[in-house]
Amino acid sequence: MNIPDTEPDIRVGLITCGAPLLAPRGEYEISRDAGGAVRYRALNQRSFMRLENLCIGKGFHWQRVIPADFEGNFRVLRNPDGKWMTVCTLPLERYVASVTASEMNPRAHIEFLKAHAVMSRSWVLGKILVCHQHGEDGKRRASDIVTDWEDTGDHDGFDVCSDDHCQRFQGMPHTAATRAEEAVDETRGIILLDRDGNPADARFSKCCGGRTELFSTCWQDRELPYLTSHDDPWCDLSGLDAKELDEFLCATFRNYDKEAGASREWETRVLKKDIARRLNAKYGIDCGEVTGMEAEERGPSGRIKRLLLHTAAGEFRIGKELAVRRLLSDDCLRSSLFETEDMGDSWLLHGRGWGHGVGLCQTGAAMMARAGKNFREILGFYFPGAAIERIY
Ligand SMILES: [Zn+2]
Ligand SMILES: [Zn+2]
Repeated sequence: MNIPDTEPDIRVGLITCGAPLLAPRGEYEISRDAGGAVRYRALNQRSFMRLENLCIGKGFHWQRVIPADFEGNFRVLRNPDGKWMTVCTLPLERYVASVTASEMNPRAHIEFLKAHAVMSRSWVLGKILVCHQHGEDGKRRASDIVTDWEDTGDHDGFDVCSDDHCQRFQGMPHTAATRAEEAVDETRGIILLDRDGNPADARFSKCCGGRTELFSTCWQDRELPYLTSHDDPWCDLSGLDAKELDEFLCATFRNYDKEAGASREWETRVLKKDIARRLNAKYGIDCGEVTGMEAEERGPSGRIKRLLLHTAAGEFRIGKELAVRRLLSDDCLRSSLFETEDMGDSWLLHGRGWGHGVGLCQTGAAMMARAGKNFREILGFYFPGAAIERIY
């Protein structure tokens, strides 16, 4: 891979709820290109685009539609299948600033936000380099490494999408000089590199639950040397009293994430008939009654990699981690790290963690910063062996 020595641009596909409702603020040159798309080119740095219907958390329990303001240039196209594509092109550092402020509270601890900025920059740079290798049409070749979630495929026509599938990109924070902007400025051009000098595939999730997970439990059957499974004492919040806990969560998470961040442990009830319904809806399997469920294979954090279902129509196996979470809940189970208790027509799940648990644990990383660790120490703990270097 050729690593850029100057800041590249990135193309972000904005996920909207239906046709994009765009309102340019400031001066734009508007034109139509050969492909039939409408282009908006910002004529000065003060111009920004208001998008009234950005969809966030699609398919998750925090899904909602919000208005958001974006910098950069835009290309809007309605594909032959009727789906809309709205692509925002902007300099990488502005993208990282938005991601850092969208994933976390932009006023969180500075060292934590710096760690997040370096990690988000590494991940997306690796993604851009892979996309650009595909050539102009943006299509993957068979030999390309697939870095996406399970069966979602890659993006055509842009590098990353604006939602949790890639990294949250929810517009620019309007309050000037937030800590997120400061964190991005102070770490400008710094990324994590693997042993071969390529950008590290730096994964992160809300809470590992006490032990980080391996890449192969969630995605392809391969391991990355800096994504190890190790104990994480930092995300155990039980040592905080109620006031300290509330302060920590308010300062670290966005409002809609705060509640779930409060507990490494969680509990939820899953109806057996709902599992049968989703098995049919997602996979076209008419299984009749679901009679049993067990973890056939778990990753080292305890996350279920392959779930075995006993049904009236025989046995079915579901994997990997995200597929298990989606099968057991309409808005995606918090994690696949759980034990089950049979309640007759349902199972009671006793679970831990939030997300896939691979790489950096956002809860633990924020606690490390709170305890006085700097961003290099935080990244060294969650991505052992990866180098931290400035590339531009
Ligand atoms: Zn995506
Ligand atoms: Zn953790």
